Amino acid sequence: MDKYAVIGHPIEHSKSPLIHSEFARLTGQPLEYHAILAPKAGFADAVKQFRQAGGKGANVTLPFKEEALALCDELSERARRAGAVNTLIWNDDERLLGDNTDGLGLVSDLKRHAYPLRDARILLLGAGGVARGVLLPLLSERPKRLVVANRTAHKAERLAADFSSFGPVTGVGLENLDGTFDLVINGTSASLSGKLPDLHRVKLAEDGCAYDMAYGDSLTPFQCWALENGARHALSGLGMLVGQAAESFALWRGVHPPIEPILELLQGEVE
Ligand code: NDP
Repeated sequence: MDKYAVIGHPIEHSKSPLIHSEFARLTGQPLEYHAILAPKAGFADAVKQFRQAGGKGANVTLPFKEEALALCDELSERARRAGAVNTLIWNDDERLLGDNTDGLGLVSDLKRHAYPLRDARILLLGAGGVARGVLLPLLSERPKRLVVANRTAHKAERLAADFSSFGPVTGVGLENLDGTFDLVINGTSASLSGKLPDLHRVKLAEDGCAYDMAYGDSLTPFQCWALENGARHALSGLGMLVGQAAESFALWRGVHPPIEPILELLQGEVE
């Protein structure tokens, strides 16, 4: 059996082993997938040991995504621009390839739900690791404009400057944010502590949509804000989680697994 794993710290909460085992079962791929808890200062050793034990590929989660980037011999354009790697693949001559599938997972989920992307006015809240990772895939969908807004303004400005050659993106501090948007994506971690970023001057367009990259067992404050402000749809990030896993699986195995059965399984778990 080919071996895969997710490496992080902490790792008990990870749904990746369940998702990938289901992908393997549904596609008939002979593989096993485990969670590996790496010590905070021991990521590189954990990767090495996994490879020595026959590992073929791995997912990387917090707090190691940047460290994984530095460990790779080759990077995809997505991973290089994201500044982070969530998928490791060893090729036959022992070179370690790094990719980042977070943005693909988000965009595929948005498309599955017919969210507005092309020519849309998009607001992305947050300028942390995940915001950086999704910017290139979002700009590739050719929005009319994309505003990155962050509590710490200079991080949003920096992020927008780094991606300005890929499309019409600007950065702004949350306190100066206003405007009407077709799609508002929450890429902050505010939902994890039950908080809502300051959106008092933000409006959703008629038929506008909202997406919270966080997910849990109830609606987040951001999803509630969106529904109270007339959103057609206010999804959580569960579909993104499954979508990024599916993209990693396809990179490793050359087969795209079905998304819906796993989503149903997980929705049953978190509801
Ligand atoms: P980071 O720690 O890198 O960044 C956190 C961001 O949230 C920063 O921009 C920070 O602003 C902002 N923030 C935190 N608290 C608040 C608040 N109370 N009000 C306004 N802004 C706030 O986190 P990540 O980028 O890694 O993750 C962000 C979110 O994305 C998390 O909820 C995570 O669970 C989710 N995620 C979902 C995935 C999925 O597959 N669905 C995959 C990866 C992440 P500042 O710079 O000012 O501190």
